[in-house]
Amino acid sequence: MTAPAAVAPRLFHEPRITVLSRPAFTTPEHLAVAWTGESTDGERLAEFAGRLCYMSQHNPANRSTRDYLENIKKQGHGSVLEHANYSLLLEGVSRSLTHELVRHRAGFAYSQLSQRYVDESEASFVVPPAVAGDEALESAWRAQIESAQSAYVALVAQLMERYGWVADKVHRRKMAREAARGVLPNSTETKIVVTGNARAWRTMLELRSSEGAELEIRRAAVSIIRILQGEAPGFFSDFEVYMAADRREAARIGYHKV
Ligand SMILES: Cc1cc2nc3c(=O)[nH]c(=O)nc-3n(C[C@H](O)[C@H](O)[C@H](O)COP(=O)(O)OP(=O)(O)OC[C@H]3O[C@@H](n4cnc5c(N)ncnc54)[C@H](O)[C@@H]3O)c2cc1C
Repeated sequence: MTAPAAVAPRLFHEPRITVLSRPAFTTPEHLAVAWTGESTDGERLAEFAGRLCYMSQHNPANRSTRDYLENIKKQGHGSVLEHANYSLLLEGVSRSLTHELVRHRAGFAYSQLSQRYVDESEASFVVPPAVAGDEALESAWRAQIESAQSAYVALVAQLMERYGWVADKVHRRKMAREAARGVLPNSTETKIVVTGNARAWRTMLELRSSEGAELEIRRAAVSIIRILQGEAPGFFSDFEVYMAADRREAARIGYHKV
């Protein structure tokens, strides 16, 4: 039997980020807040939760929702931000990025593509930002990932044969893939659903958008900041994206760990 012609793997140079869910707030008529200014459901939810603590729904200082949230961040009363959850789908990110991402535990939930179940024979790969744009580096890197992918395909075939006596085909495939994935590099593309509350996102984004963070996760963090600033400026407008001395974007936060 001739081996199928190798197809060049798809390469990612940027993450693909999709908002899957955002808060939907319903005003309880019996505790209506005197809102002012522009706001989104997530921001109103946090303001409602904050005002409930002091029963200040009548808004005595006549603050807009975003001014109210600014004050919450300034005072460090970030627990009301925990009510607002945002779910993002990240694609075009590497296994090394998600390995770092899932270290952020408090306030986060994760569901990631399983390399035990999913065939990676045609996996995509993420070009490390430091390698991208340099022809010689990219070509050396590509040679390595193509060789790793070929080794994976060969190992899966050999393991399927070795464990041919396992009657359950799904289990046999899982046995083969979970062993063969050992040869796949950190650059292998993965997909992950990440749900975090606004407070948790702020903490993670502060750490991972900073100049000390690894370049790929830093790039993703900067993209997420921009997306979440559009979703809820009241939670994220104090992040400032800037061009760092290393000629890459980074971000700094106005209110550290609210
Ligand atoms: C630039 C950079 C380099 C890194 N390098 C490494 C490395 O070389 N090796 C490595 O292993 N990790 C490394 N990390 C990961 C780092 O150690 C943390 O695991 C990661 O940043 C998540 O932080 P966290 O634990 O504060 O987050 P979370 O788990 O989300 O926690 C958020 C906050 O909740 C509180 N909290 C959470 N869990 C507990 C608990 N069990 N007890 C008490 N308080 C709690 C703490 O205040 C904590 O800061 C690195 C991180 C960064 C940003």
